[in-house]
Amino acid sequence: MSNQEFIDRHHAAMVLNYGKLPAVLVRGEGSRLWDADGKEYIDMFAGFGGTILGHQHPALVAAVTRQVGTIWAAGNQFYTEPQLRLAESLQRLAFDGRAFFCHSGAEANEAAIKLARISAAESGRFKIISMREGFHGRTLGALSATPTLAYQQGFFPLVPGFVSVPFNDLAALEAAIDAETCAVITEPIQGESGINMPADNFLPGVRALCDRHKLTMIVDEVWTGIGRTGKTFGFQHDCATPPSEPRSEPRPSGSVSPSEPRPLGSGSQYSITPDIITLGKALGGGLPVGCMFARPERAAFFKPGTHGCTLGGNPICAAAGAAVLEVLEEENLPARAAMLGAKIVARIRAFNPAAASKIKEIRGRGLMLGIELVQPDATALVPNALAKGLILNVTHKHVVRLAPALTIPEDLAMRGLDILEQSLVAL
Ligand code: PLP
Repeated sequence: MSNQEFIDRHHAAMVLNYGKLPAVLVRGEGSRLWDADGKEYIDMFAGFGGTILGHQHPALVAAVTRQVGTIWAAGNQFYTEPQLRLAESLQRLAFDGRAFFCHSGAEANEAAIKLARISAAESGRFKIISMREGFHGRTLGALSATPTLAYQQGFFPLVPGFVSVPFNDLAALEAAIDAETCAVITEPIQGESGINMPADNFLPGVRALCDRHKLTMIVDEVWTGIGRTGKTFGFQHDCATPPSEPRSEPRPSGSVSPSEPRPLGSGSQYSITPDIITLGKALGGGLPVGCMFARPERAAFFKPGTHGCTLGGNPICAAAGAAVLEVLEEENLPARAAMLGAKIVARIRAFNPAAASKIKEIRGRGLMLGIELVQPDATALVPNALAKGLILNVTHKHVVRLAPALTIPEDLAMRGLDILEQSLVAL
């Protein structure tokens, strides 16, 4: 079937909730894709960050094939080995946490919202503060934490108890905390809204406020997790912060004395530890794997029956996730993301004057890059680049996003950037 025949039939059979590009993708290898008419594309967006190891990575193919021939699915009333391998890898790479598996980023955030609420239920606290322009998913709870009208319009009333403050504004965050607040949720870098970077003191400042007010700090790593930003997780970038102080943790039985207030902002270098991180996208390498990963004191509030997900932690998907993390470590891919990201930025900065004049600012870390354009509506760039054989994304109409697989060969990435340069000139 040709691209066009397929597209016509798709329109008669599917809910049309996605903006579509005119290509039917039929094969992928590494960071190259082919459509039904045989046209080849360089993939610099990796399926919204999902295919972090590209297509047909031998380790993923082997892990999934092995698992398909072993045990396919099992109810979560049983123990299965791939879940354990994935959870233990997360413990090694993130912090001493406990994993709850689901299928998507939104579901991971739903679980985090519910865990934050149940852990504060005894004290009657339920409000969750999120950041303006943040994005946490399309389910009603996650959407309620996504305070952008364009996403929320038409779905009111949303879940009550959500409050929003501007990203990077610690004073506004502190002012929004009241006796009913139980949690704060933020991305380490805002992805969907155009690669908005955190100020150096932002995550440590959120951590300090959460400690001071005994709130659950939820860091949404759905975009930033699994090496994309040059560290395994976005919260692990060094931040300016005061030396650590004793942490307060709510416990299922009994209260904890509040920690001493500590100043927000500048000081020595260290990485903070969230109470919960949420993962999706890249965790399954393109298969549906979501995870809420919570410090043990928080995780203990979920007891048998409080939350669940029938196919969450499915053995095939969990085996894929475990293989993704093995490859990530073995091939030191976070460091590669940092190195290649720097080369990509250097190449963009060397674009010819006709292309460079279209660029306002380059933002991001590792292989999570945003190029803000001068032109307010640059959406035409996407089909234009696609016609030339390059897959990229434009968000908020004028921020080009590049998020290739961490395994993309350097020469292929540079060929992709040549196409981007030509497309910018044509814009
Ligand atoms: N959180 C963040 C930061 C995201 O960028 C997204 C999706 O783009 C989500 C959550 C929702 O993930 P999913 O589409 O897998 O539900």
